[in-house]
Amino acid sequence: MDADVIVIGAGLSGLVATAELAAAGRSVILLDGEPAQSLGGQAYWSFGGLFMVDTPEQRRMRVKDSAALALADWMGSAGFDSPSDYWPRRWAEAYVSFASGELRSWLYGLGVRWFPVVQWAERGGGPIPGHGNSVPRFHITWGTGPALVQPFLDRIRGNDRVRILNRHKVSGLETGPDGVRVNGQVLLASTVPRGARSPDGVARDFSFSASAVIISSGGIGGNVDLVRKYWPADWGRPPEKMIIGVPDFVDGSMLQVAEQAGGRVINRTRMWHYPEGVINHAPIWTEHGIRILPGPSALWVDAHGERLPFPLYPGFDALGALRHITSRGDDHSWFVLDLETVGKELALSGSEQNADLTGKDIRQLSTRVRPGPTPEVQAFLRRGADFVTAGSVDDLVARMNKLTGTDHIDADRLRQLIELRDQQVVSGLGKDPQVTATAAARRYLGDRLSRVATPHPYLDPRRPGAGIAGTGGPLVAVRLHVLTRKTLGGLETDLDGRVLTADGSPLPGVYAAGEVSGFGGGGVHGYRSLEGTFLGGCLFSGRVAGQAAAAAVG
Ligand SMILES: Cc1cc2nc3c(=O)[nH]c(=O)nc-3n(C[C@H](O)[C@H](O)[C@H](O)COP(=O)(O)OP(=O)(O)OC[C@H]3O[C@@H](n4cnc5c(N)ncnc54)[C@H](O)[C@@H]3O)c2cc1C
Repeated sequence: MDADVIVIGAGLSGLVATAELAAAGRSVILLDGEPAQSLGGQAYWSFGGLFMVDTPEQRRMRVKDSAALALADWMGSAGFDSPSDYWPRRWAEAYVSFASGELRSWLYGLGVRWFPVVQWAERGGGPIPGHGNSVPRFHITWGTGPALVQPFLDRIRGNDRVRILNRHKVSGLETGPDGVRVNGQVLLASTVPRGARSPDGVARDFSFSASAVIISSGGIGGNVDLVRKYWPADWGRPPEKMIIGVPDFVDGSMLQVAEQAGGRVINRTRMWHYPEGVINHAPIWTEHGIRILPGPSALWVDAHGERLPFPLYPGFDALGALRHITSRGDDHSWFVLDLETVGKELALSGSEQNADLTGKDIRQLSTRVRPGPTPEVQAFLRRGADFVTAGSVDDLVARMNKLTGTDHIDADRLRQLIELRDQQVVSGLGKDPQVTATAAARRYLGDRLSRVATPHPYLDPRRPGAGIAGTGGPLVAVRLHVLTRKTLGGLETDLDGRVLTADGSPLPGVYAAGEVSGFGGGGVHGYRSLEGTFLGGCLFSGRVAGQAAAAAVG
């Protein structure tokens, strides 16, 4: 045997599993196809948002949360409805219990801290028990994704029980009574920057044996062919143009390898992509897109200028909005707002798009409560291919249509829509559900401080019918693409992270964790996520699989 356990994939779930194995005294070979500078996988690029329940951070913000409320939200969002949901449902219960209990104290003990203002992601907005978070639960890691990766890297780097082998791409897996064998190719050394596509050239083959293997190789979001292949039928045709929210290494290659070895993949057509993607003006990976994390005020209109229906408002129901857009055959939609609202409400996901939080720069961070966009959002306003600004609706629409090379947006209709919206806002009360939901959101201190603009008209009320921007102007329109990101289905696993076969029995010696296992069970989220549950799912499933494998080979 070359090691007690082989871990395939050095993203967050693989690092956590490796750290657990090493702590239990097991020897580990950690294989990853990417060069050493990419250790940490997607989590390094992530915003570091974690779904946690009933925390001191929530209580300080006067948020009343509980495990029961979180579980009700989870089940309402997941919509588990098929026999393949047996293990996913059990994982969901276990995960919510973990996120309400041990998760925070475990991470706190490793030195992880959180930005004090808990964010309210995926508000849902429909009647109970439907989709969405009833309360804010998205805890941004202080230092974002890199600060979540580092404690686990620290635990395994320099540990003499762990061999980290980069540029080792796995292409075969065999199981037998004596353990597992992992085969693949050593790729040519590469100095590409972290996250950039690395070359595929092969130097030689490799083969290692161990008592067990943990597959932690991520999802399919970087492989548009697979995304198209498994695109759910009820979302319409996959859009012609999609942009990519994950690095190229998120290619889904290990799913096929695991299947060939006898593992069962379930819930393949469940995915989590975003309707609010913009083209990165400084791309790192192929077709690199950034997700806008929107506050609730912008008008959201489809490619033809029609407003998205209730409750598809920015930040409420990502997948509901995506389905609405793609099932009508469109590949884009628009946010229409003004600069004042951009400043308060448009945040960008990703560690490199939040230098203040990632760099733990309190001085720079304090500017977020002042009016105006972050430097990263300003860069998109200046250089982003999808942003247009104008002093009047007529000019704005001319620029929107020029950008798409169509005449799909009608200036008169858009002006009327904005005027109607403005009337609701200036009334101080209003009947429009988006306007009332936005006002209600401001009852939450975190939203009022930094996420939800003071309600105000977008157009100048002194010049009715002219469609001229008001004091919060100029007007801004943002073209939004479909951005691929996460895989909700995956390798079916039991509560020990053991990969199951078609007859439900464990595949001997094979475990899985993270996105490749649908973050646990083969689909812990069901059909929809509450956000912050992906990193959380990697932490939980990596820990479970690491501890179970360590016990099994001990
Ligand atoms: C920009 C961005 C922002 C995000 N923000 C958040 C957030 O705020 N909150 C949240 O919960 N989630 C967020 N996510 C999602 C989250 O980061 C990922 O779902 C999670 O990190 C996936 O981790 P993983 O360990 O499962 O896989 P990955 O991070 O994808 O790692 C898999 C590793 O396996 C390697 N690999 C793959 N195939 C092979 C093979 N055949 N042989 C050898 N090695 C292989 C890859 O090179 C990679 O290093 C974000 C993601 C991105 C990209």
